[in-house]
Amino acid sequence: MAEGRWRQRLLAAFLGIGCFAASVWALPARAFSALAAWRITADGLLELRTTPYASLSASFDPGDGAQGPRLWIDLPGTPSRPRTLQAGGPLRQVRVGTPEPGITRLVLEFQPGVQLDPAQLKLVGVDKDSWKLQLPPQLGRYLALGEGSVDRPDPIVAAPSEGSGAPSGAAAPRQPLRPLRPADMPSVARGRFRVVIDPGHGGPDPGAIGIGSTQEKDVVLEISQQVAELLRGRGVDVLLTRTGDIDVDLPPRAQLANSSGADVFVSIHANALSMSRPDVNGLETFYFQSQQGRNLAASIHSSIMGTVRREDRGVREGRFYVIRATRMPSSLVEVGFLTGADDAPDLMDPAHRRQLALAISAGILDYLRLGG
Ligand SMILES: [Zn+2]
Repeated sequence: MAEGRWRQRLLAAFLGIGCFAASVWALPARAFSALAAWRITADGLLELRTTPYASLSASFDPGDGAQGPRLWIDLPGTPSRPRTLQAGGPLRQVRVGTPEPGITRLVLEFQPGVQLDPAQLKLVGVDKDSWKLQLPPQLGRYLALGEGSVDRPDPIVAAPSEGSGAPSGAAAPRQPLRPLRPADMPSVARGRFRVVIDPGHGGPDPGAIGIGSTQEKDVVLEISQQVAELLRGRGVDVLLTRTGDIDVDLPPRAQLANSSGADVFVSIHANALSMSRPDVNGLETFYFQSQQGRNLAASIHSSIMGTVRREDRGVREGRFYVIRATRMPSSLVEVGFLTGADDAPDLMDPAHRRQLALAISAGILDYLRLGG
């Protein structure tokens, strides 16, 4: 662009408590980041949770031919570690970095060629510690992504009230056993493998409905899309049986796998039982008859068990249509119980779903790497 780069400061409207900001900026460089949690919903709503009364500023750069537009938000404090998350849909990457000690910068980089009108972007304070910014919804569905828990108070700041034992959307998700990062994904020969990922249900068929009206179709679509992106990042060709909230019959799902010459088929589901059985939780992974299917299921299962906290319901033979009708090694994973008191808060947590996606991807890659 002839006129070169330009930047625009985005309006940060805050509900009359921005005057606390100056003292926060004066914190020493080693202070913890004011960014406690963030998430981007499939509809493109960016939500942040910060330390109370933090001062934020948002900026924008339209990018050029090679680099898409970037939107960034600066907060006080230094992040514990700089990191890059591969996004999806209109967003290419989300980065958490530190342009200088004492500042956390959350960067949203869009795909090259995306046109954004900065006048449409407004960072709005909705509470002393929570912020929202609506990304343009007309760019298509975003890949839901996030870190930490935007909804719940940080237990370090506010001690959680003792639970009554009843399941509740307010229960805190469990910490992962061994968090995975995209860099931890096993490597396989690039361009050699094709994988079909099947997000269960969709459209008018919500699948299981759990605590907080969480719908299986949404949870598994988000996890599946992340798995697809992670596998593509390792040079695997990935086909999804659905990429949106649509209903696909079971036979076309299996046909897609059979006609595409896929090496592996993985169907992703979440379990549910009646709301009166919050005591039933856990991971179960199915295969149908073949030893290779069993190996695939075991690889995914053990990867998840090693990453997140889950009751182990085992690797089991099952007769689900999609794993019976597919001709390549196939597996169906039930990532947890939407009606379970332990599993439901996890499944509602974007950071936990990210860990599930990483663990499933690592399990598939390990299976491919070891040659079945
Ligand atoms: Zn299901």
